[in-house]
Amino acid sequence: MVSDNPKQAVDVAVLVSPGIGHTIPLFEFSKRLSVDHGLEVCFLVITTNEPSPAQDSLLRPEAGAVIPPNLHVVDLPPTDLSTIPEDTTLGDRISLLVKRSLESVRVVLLEPTSRPKALVIDIFCSEALEFGQELSIPVYTFFTTCAALLTFSLYLPTLDHEVEGEFTDMPGPIRVPGCRSYRPEDLLDPVKNRKIEEYRWILLHFSRLPRAAGILLNTWEDLEPVSLAALKENPFFLQIPAPPVYTIGPVIKQAEGSEMLTPSNAESLTWLDRRPPESVLFITFGSGGTLTIEQLTELGWGLELSQQRFVWVVRAPTDVSGSGTFFKAGSTKSGPEEYLPEGFLERTRGLGVVVQSWAPQMAILGHSSTGAFISHCGWNSTLESLSCGVPLIAWPLYAEQRMNAAMLAEDIGVAIRPVTMDQGTGLVGRDEVERVVRMVMEGEEGKALRRRARDLKDSAEKALSCGGTSWETLATVCREWKSKDIYAAPNNKCSCAAAGRT
Ligand code: UDP
Repeated sequence: MVSDNPKQAVDVAVLVSPGIGHTIPLFEFSKRLSVDHGLEVCFLVITTNEPSPAQDSLLRPEAGAVIPPNLHVVDLPPTDLSTIPEDTTLGDRISLLVKRSLESVRVVLLEPTSRPKALVIDIFCSEALEFGQELSIPVYTFFTTCAALLTFSLYLPTLDHEVEGEFTDMPGPIRVPGCRSYRPEDLLDPVKNRKIEEYRWILLHFSRLPRAAGILLNTWEDLEPVSLAALKENPFFLQIPAPPVYTIGPVIKQAEGSEMLTPSNAESLTWLDRRPPESVLFITFGSGGTLTIEQLTELGWGLELSQQRFVWVVRAPTDVSGSGTFFKAGSTKSGPEEYLPEGFLERTRGLGVVVQSWAPQMAILGHSSTGAFISHCGWNSTLESLSCGVPLIAWPLYAEQRMNAAMLAEDIGVAIRPVTMDQGTGLVGRDEVERVVRMVMEGEEGKALRRRARDLKDSAEKALSCGGTSWETLATVCREWKSKDIYAAPNNKCSCAAAGRT
């Protein structure tokens, strides 16, 4: 089970749920602990029998991954994905995979050499809070998305208690205390139907948040001042009681080095080298994002009509879900010529590049020729875009992405949202694609978004530099972990248990 056994006592163990969208920020976080703060870190990976080339290139030295010596990647025994029914929702699937692996986590934590002073988990691993307490190991939650969603998550148990029926049937927007309001259609997917299992899972995970010894949040002070102030000052959040919240972001991956690039990925970067500054639109929908054939066709035509340069990551279309490649990111089946509009590749030769399945996103976003990003607004992609000063066309697909898109467009001012043709399918037509692409790439509105994105890039750099808010916060937490006596009983007894919470 253990692929890289630590020789020294472990300071921190990090447990991540399946899916590259959680693995990337938790692995980057682990690297920061080990490289910047000198901690011995054990990174526990819940594996499945389905290969994920993107995950391999991140975690496996044989696939080009660069891993610091004091960061130990430990594979837990794989779960067979085929034993989970095909129609299981994404949230259920992740929660079930975690549940099946928890016993192996306990085994690792009980080994004398890998017993950590602290365990850091992501939200889908919330059951580990139970045995953390039992093993006297303080458990921290690394919240992989924004402060705005954290406020909603901490509020959800109250909302669940107070509201009868579906949240989507409420007459007006849902207001989180001290924070923004959400239109029902923008709520995160699992809470849109309270009768399904996925809702019960998410409610359970969110209800357990107050039990953590602390919440590490992947954002920074200047990006989300309102939500962060609400967490500190609003009477609702003061009475929960929520554990300390540490803003340590943006925690994002570094630009992919040449050793990690496939030949076609290297070609797309060389193509970018020859284009004018800020003249190329980058399009990809995270690790899992897939479009229907109808949407893929409209997007293709819209890009062509806009006559703007592009790098487009194309995946095989599917009608089943918007997160079709979540567990096998980077894998390929058939070529784009099979499903792009007929003649598209010939007609756009020179104007754009189509990349199959997976691109080196950070290297592209950080390239001077990249001018804007059509993104599904997963939180990593959002942070990566802002850290590179690149404005977005917000094209949410699943999970909490609509909440992120609303915040980016309406509060932060770095994105525009295309108008869909109808609520039901969410289809964005070719004329709308052409309109928003031209607006961001050529229009005055695009310039304003770019200025805002550049300001945020500067503020992110400041937060992460020595003396900046995020750097100092993480340094303080690391000092606390380092100085901890592992045999002392941690003070993470569940204060909320006394308050009658689950
Ligand atoms: N990513 C990438 N190349 C791609 C698509 C995605 O490198 O073609 C990376 C991206 O840089 C980000 C992660 O995959 O770090 C996706 O995370 P995000 O939170 O944006 O979305 P999720 O995949 O969780 O929906």
